[in-house]
Amino acid sequence: MFSYRHAFHAGSHADILKHLVLIHLVEYLQEKPGALTMVDTHAGAGIYSLTDGFAAVSNEASGGIYRLMQFAAEEKVAGRSLSAGIESYLDCIRAENIDSANGEIHIYPGSPFILARLMRPQDRLKLFELHPREIDVLRHNIDQLKQAKQTDIYAADSFTRLKGLLPPPSRRGLVLIDPSYEDKQDYRYLESAMEEAMHRFATGCYAIWYPMLSRRESAALPDRMKKIAGSHQRPWLNVELRVENSPKERRLQASGLFIINPPWTLEKHLAESLPILTKALGQDSGAQFLLKSFEV
Ligand code: SAM
Repeated sequence: MFSYRHAFHAGSHADILKHLVLIHLVEYLQEKPGALTMVDTHAGAGIYSLTDGFAAVSNEASGGIYRLMQFAAEEKVAGRSLSAGIESYLDCIRAENIDSANGEIHIYPGSPFILARLMRPQDRLKLFELHPREIDVLRHNIDQLKQAKQTDIYAADSFTRLKGLLPPPSRRGLVLIDPSYEDKQDYRYLESAMEEAMHRFATGCYAIWYPMLSRRESAALPDRMKKIAGSHQRPWLNVELRVENSPKERRLQASGLFIINPPWTLEKHLAESLPILTKALGQDSGAQFLLKSFEV
């Protein structure tokens, strides 16, 4: 079960969608001064080099962050602007690359770095990582940050341990759940973890990432999450981005996020960004997005 290393997928189209949503969730929740606890249940290594190691081998960033950067540069030349959401996202990525010549992107921050950099003094970050090597890299990377003192890192199975952190002391919490789904059981574990989490902390903001695969469990995931949100009468938002439709290819072509208790601003924010992302990252005529929400 330990063959998955997120570096292979760093800066991919799926990372862009996930991190764009994540940044907006944090920015919205930080509009109030109260302390915010952010939990990243599947942290990975925290930050990745795109020019060597696994990321350079897979080169998924070429269909992701590199493609988006190129698109942004062309739009700028044409005098067109991107959405505020895409600008905020690109600012976060550029901030990790300020030392690189010509504004080139060599480093891609994963969710732990994005969350750590956005933390205010009153906020807390809780990171889970189970991979025996990845956890050491994550600890080393987080130790370089001034926000390390506000961060707890757990070498533990987050599906069983998440409930122990809920509700957070301030009752203001954001939970990112981003499994690799390498183990088919992850779909089942996710459902149980979400049932327990909602039972303890139904008002938290939960963002669940999922790959869109032909696998039955993957296709059923949004409906399972709708059922959990519905049983607590909580609002939800579902966003999906497909960059191509080549059924014979095995690479990941689409992904989604299911958000329970989304900020009221998220739908508008995504309605502005998704057409641009679809244009920037779309590889064939099958590129499309979906945006659905439910209010109670
Ligand atoms: N959230 C990261 C980001 O956006 O940069 C990427 C995380 S990656 C998709 C999933 C990570 O979860 C992998 O590093 C994997 O080792 C780890 N993992 C898998 N099962 C886990 C579990 N039950 N508890 C905690 N971590 C787990």
